[in-house]
Amino acid sequence: MERQTSDTPAPAQRAREAAVRLKRLYPDAQCSLVSGGDPWRLLVMARLSAQCTDERVNIVCRDLFAALPDAAAMADAPLSAIEAMVRPCGLYRRKASDLKELSAAILRDWDGRVPDTMEGLLALPGVGRKIANLILGDVYGLGGIVADTHCIRICGRLGFYPESLSDPVRTERIMTPLVPREEQAAFCHRLVQFGRDVCTARAPRCAACPLSGICAHAGAADKK
Ligand code: SF4
Repeated sequence: MERQTSDTPAPAQRAREAAVRLKRLYPDAQCSLVSGGDPWRLLVMARLSAQCTDERVNIVCRDLFAALPDAAAMADAPLSAIEAMVRPCGLYRRKASDLKELSAAILRDWDGRVPDTMEGLLALPGVGRKIANLILGDVYGLGGIVADTHCIRICGRLGFYPESLSDPVRTERIMTPLVPREEQAAFCHRLVQFGRDVCTARAPRCAACPLSGICAHAGAADKK
């Protein structure tokens, strides 16, 4: 992790600056899962996106939602039919079972509404903190750091914690107080886009990066 000097902005200030620069770069960054604003559909898509690309999830879900448009239809569908439809997303048995069960739980325990609390979301089958934060931020506007692979990698490179850190819960804990709550959802969507375009896993394009002036990784490279 970078050492703090009198010239180095404090982490919160640097996080704000990173958020500003990312917003300039991607003013309209949105979730790449195309759910049409339906909370249950976003939940289903987020569950399917584990170890699968968002592009593939979007394609698979066109047919999935045409056949099973809501929680009631999913809860009533034969498991084998759901499995067949979500198979291209990988891990299809587990995912299909989770989709059926979480849909039933939403109908049974939440009157058909996707929960709006971390505890309620985590109680749903197959829903972890990453998905829960996505729902809280995107659907309910409550904020939430979605600590996916891009967020973990880029925030580490920026110097908010050691680059070797790969624990999503610690990333979430460190970044949550640094990014204003109302900006957290967009900040994370922008990190995804930025991680695909500029700060890629294999070859970050530091020379052309608008965040290089506030980035510990770029600073360390300059000193080599
Ligand atoms: S300067 Fe390099 S490591 Fe830092 S955010 Fe930009 S691309 Fe990533």
